[in-house]
Amino acid sequence: LLIYYNGDFVPKSQATTSVYDHGFLYGDGVFEGIRAYNGRVFKLREHVDRLYDSAKAIALEIPISREEMEEAILETLRKNNLTDAYIRPIVSRGVGDLGLDPRKCPKPNIFIISQEWGAMYGDLYEVGLTGVTVSVRRNSCDALSPNIKSLNYLNNILAKIEANEKGGDEAIFFDQNGYLSEGSGDNIFIIKNGKVYTPPTINNLKGITRATAIELLAEMGIDTHVENLGMFDLYTADEIFVTGTAAEAAPLVKVDGRPIGDGKPGPITKKMVAAFEKVTTTTGTP
Ligand code: PLP
Repeated sequence: LLIYYNGDFVPKSQATTSVYDHGFLYGDGVFEGIRAYNGRVFKLREHVDRLYDSAKAIALEIPISREEMEEAILETLRKNNLTDAYIRPIVSRGVGDLGLDPRKCPKPNIFIISQEWGAMYGDLYEVGLTGVTVSVRRNSCDALSPNIKSLNYLNNILAKIEANEKGGDEAIFFDQNGYLSEGSGDNIFIIKNGKVYTPPTINNLKGITRATAIELLAEMGIDTHVENLGMFDLYTADEIFVTGTAAEAAPLVKVDGRPIGDGKPGPITKKMVAAFEKVTTTTGTP
């Protein structure tokens, strides 16, 4: 497996950085998660744009252009003969000293890892996932802003640990005000009385799959109502599904042990899972 490393392609064992890289010392850096289906990269531009926005938000200047980044991603797949893959571009602040000051890090490090990848949740797309609401909050006010896909995913990791302890497949966050936020790696949609709702993106990542789902719903003639939601809306939903690059569109059939609707994937969710599979396998950058 070859990994892109600052313009070169190197074997896994050589794709290493220093312990003085601030990405390692402080989680100072940004990343993306991208998928390729049938040899085409899904929403490549959108992911690259979000990577550069994340970088801009932490005042990290990525030393190559967006076009060069796109080409590097495509070339990583070609070099590894991958057609169905997960792709992970990472830009770290680079090597500095033990101090926080990013001015001591003259050169960001760029890595692109790719690997073969199938469905994340296997059978669960038909059966449905279980969700657990977690006590750790998604805070939209600080540097761990959900809008920055930074190398500091501690909030999400703590949420995952809590979900694991409680035996759920996915963690569900609320924000500092108690509004529904997102999952540890995906956005949330709620269906009630035939209407679809999702939280605004102030307190969750501006998911590219979320945007795709809203488009696919519109094509089905269904409007998505973007509004603040709470615990009540979650527990009383007829259907819930989550969306993410890794998770794709997946039904959530239980939250905190309570069945959602009749505890099975509902009709709108099933249509979404099918529509998402179609769009990912028929579009993208070759
Ligand atoms: N929320 C979080 C915290 C994520 O890490 C991700 C994954 O990228 C998502 C949501 C879903 O976003 P996307 O659909 O762009 O992958």
